[in-house]
Amino acid sequence: MKIGFIGLGNMGAPMAANLVKAGHEVRGFDPSAACPEGVSRAVSAADAAAGAEVVITMLPDGPNLRAVVAEVIPAMAPGAVLCDCSTVDIDSARAVALLAGEAGRHAVDAPVSGGVSGAAAGTLTFMVGGPAAVFARVEPLLKAMGSRTVHCGTAGAGQAAKLCNNMILGATMIATCEAFALADKLGLDRQKLFDVVSTSTGSSWSMNAYCPAPGIGPVSPADRGYAPGFAAELMLKDLRLGQQAAASADADTPMGELATRLYARFVEEEGGRGRDFSAMLPRFAGRGREA
Ligand code: NAD
Repeated sequence: MKIGFIGLGNMGAPMAANLVKAGHEVRGFDPSAACPEGVSRAVSAADAAAGAEVVITMLPDGPNLRAVVAEVIPAMAPGAVLCDCSTVDIDSARAVALLAGEAGRHAVDAPVSGGVSGAAAGTLTFMVGGPAAVFARVEPLLKAMGSRTVHCGTAGAGQAAKLCNNMILGATMIATCEAFALADKLGLDRQKLFDVVSTSTGSSWSMNAYCPAPGIGPVSPADRGYAPGFAAELMLKDLRLGQQAAASADADTPMGELATRLYARFVEEEGGRGRDFSAMLPRFAGRGREA
């Protein structure tokens, strides 16, 4: 397929490279990042989109996405598909779908889980919102970049799934970190806590696959001095999108709200910016009970 790829950052570049590896013809655009090998360089987002059957975007946030989409949709061929893989607010995802539809183009939101390593390995999970027929058209491309693809529902449903997943992740990471810090103070060995919890009802991905305690469990950012991985400020971004969605849907999400407040403090006041989101463990370990 002929593909336009806009946003070749940490995630976009390896994803575009995997499309090339699968035999697709990819034209890419990014104002600051380099094109990976095999991707031909377009001079603008509109240039990357012109003549493409599918245009993929992998951008930082909703405002960037809306700006790019306003430029790209008129340049896209009638009937072509815009597939946004960024993590953005649900309103932006729905606005993009509407804009595309009004112009006679198609759109799906297809945010990902799996991080930079999953993007490089081609093992991302895609959660997709949009019409089933459009999902079917992009699915072969998503399979070239990932190992699992779930059609979640109509426009915005992919972003909804992503925000719900990361709200659970933020809360379970905090709970795991505070449990390790409590164990330290109770004189319980960290390895023993891992041995028990990882096979018990307190287990989670945060404990079993991404253990925040150095030297315990599979290799994780904790073993590299908490270099990300998944940076705390990106977790904060996703938690805030979750809270924004909860407010607009009138949903009661107290755990998500507390996780958002704790990550905001960590990133904005406690030196957490640029550290992995599992660096909540040294944060908790270094403090006592708050009054
Ligand atoms: P990044 O900052 O490395 O890459 C974003 C790229 O978009 C940058 O290279 C930037 O130059 C480019 N860009 C910005 N405005 C542009 C424009 N107008 N036209 C063309 N390119 C433009 O970010 P990333 O880590 O690749 O993340 C991208 C998206 O994926 C984000 O929405 C993020 O939340 C999501 N995500 C990231 C991870 C992760 O682990 N990094 C995991 C899952 C989802």
